[in-house]
Amino acid sequence: MTAARTSDAREALVRVDGLKKYFPVRRGFLRRQVGAIRAVDGIGFDIRPGETLGLVGESGSGKSTAGRTLLRLEEPDAGRVWFDGRDLARLDADRLKDERRRMQMIFQDPYASLNPRIRVGKAIREPLDIHEIGDAHARDATVCELLERVGLNADHATRYPHEFSGGQRQRIGIARALATRPEFIVADEPISALDVSIQAQIVNLLSDLKAELGLTYLFIAHDLSMVRHLSDRVAVMYLGRIVELGDCDRVFERPLHPYTRTLISAVPAVPRRAPEDRCSRPSGRLANPADPPSGCSFHTRCPFATALCRTVSPELVPASGDASHVAACHHVEQIPRDEMETVPAS
Ligand code: SF4
Repeated sequence: MTAARTSDAREALVRVDGLKKYFPVRRGFLRRQVGAIRAVDGIGFDIRPGETLGLVGESGSGKSTAGRTLLRLEEPDAGRVWFDGRDLARLDADRLKDERRRMQMIFQDPYASLNPRIRVGKAIREPLDIHEIGDAHARDATVCELLERVGLNADHATRYPHEFSGGQRQRIGIARALATRPEFIVADEPISALDVSIQAQIVNLLSDLKAELGLTYLFIAHDLSMVRHLSDRVAVMYLGRIVELGDCDRVFERPLHPYTRTLISAVPAVPRRAPEDRCSRPSGRLANPADPPSGCSFHTRCPFATALCRTVSPELVPASGDASHVAACHHVEQIPRDEMETVPAS
């Protein structure tokens, strides 16, 4: 099974099914393909209107590629994405452009995502020009309105990116993403390049914008405390696959998959359990996505791995009698509960 369905597809604003993105590995003088990095290896989920789905995992787990492929900034190798009931792969270029107005991305690096030679107002206005939204006067008015909406001043439109701090630049990136009045935003690690003191401000801004504008987010991050603060549900990725998905509080308070427990136990604010808790001691490194382990791809790091884990890949299935909480682990019911990492609600 490649998809994790925890909501009725009829309710979904975004539906992803079996999405794959492989990057070729080439070697030699002729640059022959000798393998492929399986960055995204058959993921699926629904996102309901007005919902925030957090997507977490270590660096290299495929989170960002998943977000980019979902928006077709990368061409998928397999799988389908429906947005508001429309299959994006079947849209021609004009109709895809129309749908793109409704789906935008906030990038990780506010320094790299703004052209240093273009004034901020022009950068925010660019999506309006591309999509031919409004006349010149209306576009300028929208730029001023967006700057103020993200906590900056209309006067800032005439300045260049280098005149702003990192947090201000990310606000500019958010204003640019909002220019076409999208309904769905992929926020790709929007706080990871910022000072810790600024991160909460940006997360609060995203939260306020969601409430004011009725936005739907895919929030990609490796900071679990921020994911918990902003998300309604959370999906955990490991080596290109989703290994756990469920309501945010449920996953944080009762994580099922050993990898999720490891991630949660690594959050500094979370009290660690006793030293004998095997889940609190992550071991090994993320395996090579060009040569993933057989069976369960987490078996090389999992303290509970058995012979079955080394040969058979587990499917995402509901666990603990809760159909909305799924995990891909053969032994989720057998792993002792006293070895479960639990996290108090924030
Ligand atoms: Fe660990 Fe086996 Fe579960 Fe994979 S399937 S997470 S190796 S116990």
